[in-house]
Amino acid sequence: MSQPGPPGSGAAPAGLQAQNGAAAASGAPYSNGPVHSAMMSSQVAVHQGYNSQLPGSYPHLIPAKTLNPVSGQSHYGGSQGLEQTLHRPPVAANVVAPSLRSGPVPQMPAPASQSPAATPRPSDDFLPGVSPLPPVNWQHSYPSMGSQMSHYPPPASQLPLSGNTNVSTNHQYVSSGDPSLQNSYVKSGSALPLRTPPLPTTFQPGAPPGPPPVGGPPLVRALVPQKASLRTAPQPSFSSAVNQEATPQLATKNPQMSRSVGYAYPSLPPGYQNTTPPSSSTGMPPSSLNYPSGPQAFSQTPLGANHLTASMSGLSLHPEGLRIVNLLQERKMLPSTPLQPPVPNLHEDIQKLNCNPELFRCTLTNIPQTQALLNKAKLPLGLLLHPFKDLVQLPVVTSSTIVRCRSCRTYINPFVSFLDQRRWKCNLCYRVNDVPEEFMYNPLTRVYGEPHRRPEVQNATIEFMAPSEYMLRPPQPPVYLFVFDVSHNAVETGYLNSVCQSLLDNLDLLPGNTRTKIGFITFDSTIHFYSLQEGLSQPQMLIISDIDDVFIPMPENLLVNLHESKELVQGLLKTLPQMFTTSLETQSALGPALQAAFKLMSPTGGRMTVFQTQLPTLGVGALKPREEPNHRSSAKEIHLTPSTDFYKKLALDCSGQQVAVDLFLLSGQYSDLASLGCISRYSAGSVYYYPSYHHQHNPVQVQKLHKELQRYLTRKIGFEAVMRIRCTKGLSIHTFHGNFFVRSTDLLSLPNVNPDAGYAVQMSVEESLTDTQLVSFQSALLYTSSKGERRIRVHTLCLPVVSTLNEVFLGADVQAISGLLANMAVDRSVTASLSDARDALVNAVVDSLSAYRSSVLSNQQPGLMVPFSLRLFPLFVLALLKQKSFQTGTNVRLDERIFAMCQVKNQPLVYLMLTTHPSLYRVDNLSDEGALNINDRTIPQPPILQLSVENLSRDGAFLMDAGSVLMLWVGKNCAQNFLSQVLGVQNYASIPQIRTDLPELDTPESARTIAFISWLREQRPFFPVLYVIRDESPMKANFLQNMVEDRTESALSYYEFLLHIQQQVNK
Ligand SMILES: [Zn+2]
Repeated sequence: MSQPGPPGSGAAPAGLQAQNGAAAASGAPYSNGPVHSAMMSSQVAVHQGYNSQLPGSYPHLIPAKTLNPVSGQSHYGGSQGLEQTLHRPPVAANVVAPSLRSGPVPQMPAPASQSPAATPRPSDDFLPGVSPLPPVNWQHSYPSMGSQMSHYPPPASQLPLSGNTNVSTNHQYVSSGDPSLQNSYVKSGSALPLRTPPLPTTFQPGAPPGPPPVGGPPLVRALVPQKASLRTAPQPSFSSAVNQEATPQLATKNPQMSRSVGYAYPSLPPGYQNTTPPSSSTGMPPSSLNYPSGPQAFSQTPLGANHLTASMSGLSLHPEGLRIVNLLQERKMLPSTPLQPPVPNLHEDIQKLNCNPELFRCTLTNIPQTQALLNKAKLPLGLLLHPFKDLVQLPVVTSSTIVRCRSCRTYINPFVSFLDQRRWKCNLCYRVNDVPEEFMYNPLTRVYGEPHRRPEVQNATIEFMAPSEYMLRPPQPPVYLFVFDVSHNAVETGYLNSVCQSLLDNLDLLPGNTRTKIGFITFDSTIHFYSLQEGLSQPQMLIISDIDDVFIPMPENLLVNLHESKELVQGLLKTLPQMFTTSLETQSALGPALQAAFKLMSPTGGRMTVFQTQLPTLGVGALKPREEPNHRSSAKEIHLTPSTDFYKKLALDCSGQQVAVDLFLLSGQYSDLASLGCISRYSAGSVYYYPSYHHQHNPVQVQKLHKELQRYLTRKIGFEAVMRIRCTKGLSIHTFHGNFFVRSTDLLSLPNVNPDAGYAVQMSVEESLTDTQLVSFQSALLYTSSKGERRIRVHTLCLPVVSTLNEVFLGADVQAISGLLANMAVDRSVTASLSDARDALVNAVVDSLSAYRSSVLSNQQPGLMVPFSLRLFPLFVLALLKQKSFQTGTNVRLDERIFAMCQVKNQPLVYLMLTTHPSLYRVDNLSDEGALNINDRTIPQPPILQLSVENLSRDGAFLMDAGSVLMLWVGKNCAQNFLSQVLGVQNYASIPQIRTDLPELDTPESARTIAFISWLREQRPFFPVLYVIRDESPMKANFLQNMVEDRTESALSYYEFLLHIQQQVNK
C-alpha cells in the first residue's frame, strides 16, 4: 500500500491529504490539456479522490493573448493555511510565452492572381514536364561562414560546485498516493550535508557536474568547426545517420563502430521501427537480469578522465549546421532523405548514453540558461514524448531496490555522477545520495564495486519491475468491454460483421492472461447486455429500456473470464451481426450506454471500446447538429468546443476508476466529434474516425478499419498507469498536451497507455541555470502490464545549457518546434479561434526569425536569413496552415477538422510531421541503388522531393506518403513499362477511376514498388490506405491539396509565404 514520503519529509501527509480533499470538495475545475500546473495559475489540481462536482463550463485555461500566463502564485491544493509551506519560488513576472502571440497580426495577403510567375499553380491544366522558369534572380550563393558565429562553451572554471545543492523549497507533492511517482521534497534542513565534489574519478558514468579533469575535454562540444579535429575524427554529418540506416549491422553488432560513427544516433533502419535506444547496442553474456529481447552492452569503459581525454577529438558540429541560409535564394532546403533530429551538442561519451529522440526529444537541444534568453529567442521550449513506444530491445531490471533520489525521487540514470563508490549525486536536484549496498554488485559482470556499470546507469531507457510498494491495490486483470451501436444506421453500414470477425480472429491475441475478462453491450434506443456466464448453452440477452436510470442487471455475469467463457463469447460474436439486421430503430442512446458501461467496469477498470455511427439522440449526452456547411470555410464561428460537458464528466469518472474509452466513429453524417471526443481525451483513450464507412460502398475504409482493429486489439497495453515528467531544478513544466487527465500538479493519469500515443509538454526556465552545464529530463511511466505485473518505464534525456542566443538557435529542433506549436495551436483554436491560432503560428515564425535577425546577425543583409537549424521552419508552419486542423477556405468538414486536431494532440511527432508535410517520391524508376536490405528484402529508397507540381512530370508516377494515406499519382504519359509491369494494365486509359491496391506481378518493377509501399506501411501503427490516382480521379484534388509549396485558392505558395515573412521580419 501507499507509503508516506521518505524519512525526513517533514510535512505531515495527513494534513496534505485533507487539503487535497478540500480542494476536491470545493469543486476545483478539472483540468486537462491545455493544462496549467497549479503553479502557473490559481487553478487547483485535483487529487485522485476527486468527486464528481464539476464546473458547468469548459474552462478556458488559456487567455486569448498568451499561452503562458504566469501568476507567481502557488496553490498546491488550494488550502490557504498551508500556502506558506507549499509555495515554490515565484516565477519571474516577465516570463512570457515565447511564441504563439496572437497580437496585432499583419494579415497575410490573399494570393493574388497576378502573383509571381515563380509560383506554379496546381490545377487540372498544369503541364508537368514543362517546368516553370525559375526566377532569374534566384542565384544560389552560399554565404561564407562568418566568424561571428563562433561560440565556445564557458570555461571549465565556471562549472558548478555544490553551491546550489540545497533544496530550498519545502513542499511535498501528495499526488496519487502512489509512492513510486510521488515527489517528496524534504525540508531543506534535513538534507544530508553536501560537500564540494572531489575531482571526477573513474566512477563517473554520466555528466560530472563538478569540474572536469584538468586537461579533459569540455562536456559540451565546441560549436566551431575545428580543422584539426575534423581531420582526425570521423566526420559528424547528417549523412552519417543515413549511412547507418543502410547498414544497421554496424550499429548493432560492433560497439567500436557505433562509438565512432560520429554524432548521429545509431539507429536501426526504419524497417525495424522499434529502434533500440542508442545505449543498448552490443552483445553481452546472459545474466540474472531479465533481458527479454536482447542482451545489453556494458562493455564500454566507464567515463573516467582517461577515457574522456582519449576521446576528445572531433568535438565539433558539422559546418553545415553553422550556415546562415537566405531562404529567398535557397528555397530547396528539404533534404532528399528523412530529416534527422539534431544531435545534442554533448561530449560523445555522454551523448551515446542519451535517450533516443524517437522516444524523448526537446524543441531546443541547447537549453537557454535563463528565461530571459528563452524569451529573446521567441522559440517554444518543450518536450515531445513517445514513452510507451514498442521497442525491440528494452533492458528490464528486476531488483528489490529501485535506486532513486531521496529528495526528488528521480530514478538513477546515466547522467548522475558518482562522487565515489558509495555516493551518487542527483542530476535533477543535486542531492547527494547513498549507493545502496545491493547496487554495489553488478549482476551483469558479477563484479562487486562498480555501481556505475549497472544497467540503470548505462541505459537512458529502462524498465523496472516494481515491487509491491508501487501498488495501491493488486494489479487489475485485463478487462475489455465492447460497446456496439446497433441502431438502423449502424446496421446499414455493415460494420458489425467486420468488427465481430476481427474480434473472432484476434480473440486469442488480446493481451492478457488467464485473468482476462471480456464483455459486450449493444444499444440503440435501449441498452442490451449479454450474460456470458460459464455453463450457459448460449449467450443471454438482457434489455434495459429505462435509459434515464440505467442499472446493471446481474453484473457478475456480464464481464466474464475470457478463457472460461470463450465458446459463449465466440458464439455471441458470430450471431451478433445478424441479430439486428431487421431493426428499424433509428435512435441512439449513446450516453446512457456509456453510463452503463462505466458502471459495469468501475470495480476493475480496463478498456472500453465504443463503436458509434451517428449523432447520439436519446437520453443524457444527446446532441444536436451544429455544423453549418456554409460556415465551413470561415475561420470563425465554427464549433470546435464541446456542446455539453457530459462526455468530459463521464470521462473523468472513468479516469477515476481506471477506465479508458476508445471511440471508433464510423459516420457519414456530422456526429459532433468535438463533444464525443471528450470521452476519450480525458480518459486517456484514442479516437478513430472512418467517415462514410460502408461495407460495400467504401472498401477503402473497410480495409482500413480491418487493419487498424487488428493492431488495436493485439498491441501492447498498460493499465492503471500514471506518468510523471521531472526536470532539473530551475526548469518547470507548465502545460501538458495529449489524452490524459492531470491528476495532481504534474501527475498524468492514464487509465490505459498504448504504444501509439504521443505527448508534449511546455516548459519555462524558472531559475537561472547559469551554474550548470547540463540539464536532464526524466519521464517515468508506472503501469500494470497485461500479465499483471507492475512496471515502471523510465526515459532520461540530457541536454547542454547555453548562454548565447546564437547557440539556442543552433540547437533548435525544427520538427519538435513545429509539433509543439501545432499542439499549442489546437488549444488556441479551441480557446480563442481558428484565425487566432493561424495568426499565432505565423507569428511564431516571424518572431523567432526577427529575433535572430536583430540579435544574432551582425550585418543586416537583405533577404530572409535563417539559421540552418530553422531552414525548414517557414515551410513546416506553412504546411501546418494547410493542414486539415488549421486550413481555411476549403470544404473541411467539421468532424474531419476535429479529428485532425485530435491527431495532432495524440500522435507521436513522427506521424504528425508526415501528416503535415507529406513525403513525395518518384516511383516509376525505382532502382536498387542505395536500397535498404532488411531480412533479405530489398527496399528501394527513392529521394524525397519538394511538395510542388514543379517536381511532377506527366511521364512519371509519384507516390505521396501523407501518413494515414498513400497516393500514387500516375502521369498521362507514364512509361508503358510502369503501367504494365507495376499496375498490370495495358494503357493509361485502363487504370480504373478508383483503385486502392497494386497487383503482385512477377516483375522486378512490381516487387520494388510493393516492397517500398509495404515498408512505408510497416513503419506506422495505423494503416495508410493507397489510392492510385489518374488525372480524372476524384482523389486528384487531395493529392494537389498536399502540394504544400504551391498556391491554393485560399493559401499562399511557399515563395509568397517567404516574402510575407521577410516583410514582417524586416519591419
Ligand atoms: Zn534529486
